[in-house]
Amino acid sequence: MRLIVMGPPGAGKGTQATFVADHFGIPAISTGDIFRANVSQGTALGVEAKRYMDSGEYVPDEVTNLMVRARIDEPDAAPGFLLDGYPRTLAQVEELDGMITYTGHVLDAVVVLTVDQDAVVERLLQRAETEGRTDDTGEVIRRRQELYGEETAPLIDVYRRRGLLIEVDGLGEISEVTQRIFDALDVIPQS
Ligand code: ADP
Repeated sequence: MRLIVMGPPGAGKGTQATFVADHFGIPAISTGDIFRANVSQGTALGVEAKRYMDSGEYVPDEVTNLMVRARIDEPDAAPGFLLDGYPRTLAQVEELDGMITYTGHVLDAVVVLTVDQDAVVERLLQRAETEGRTDDTGEVIRRRQELYGEETAPLIDVYRRRGLLIEVDGLGEISEVTQRIFDALDVIPQS
């Protein structure tokens, strides 16, 4: 099973990604989490990534692509994986296509969580208080939303044209949203 979860900042991708990946027994791979782990460990990758993340910009494709390639080459991802926060640009889509094709597999589905951007700003500002993410400030949130619209939202059409898109309403209780995703995924063939 090879899945992608997409959605604007604050849509709840990370939460849903974990439930869905657990259900299928595959790792949830969050590029944001991997970058944040590197930042807190002070690795060279973390130092590089932090420059972009703190202002809400995307980390350059070359850096992100290499990191994802290395992660999905790990043994736990051999049966499949769920990507949270990748791909985010058209160049990353192409790169991922290459990675998956190389292993002789296919992408099974792309789940897009739809939410009202204004409604989630409040959610993100609250998260800033509990999790202390340095990119959850008003100005940086707006930049992340803007970039999502410019760079990432166009990917939705790409995957729709391929017949892979599953759009799920991301508003409501966490468990309700999870159920909507499972209901939608039930109807797709598994590989
Ligand atoms: P959100 O979706 O709420 O903005 P993430 O945790 O997914 O949060 O990502 C946090 C930051 O990590 C992004 O703003 C960006 O700087 C960086 N990042 C994560 N994934 C990617 C990616 N695929 N390409 C480039 N940068 C990324």
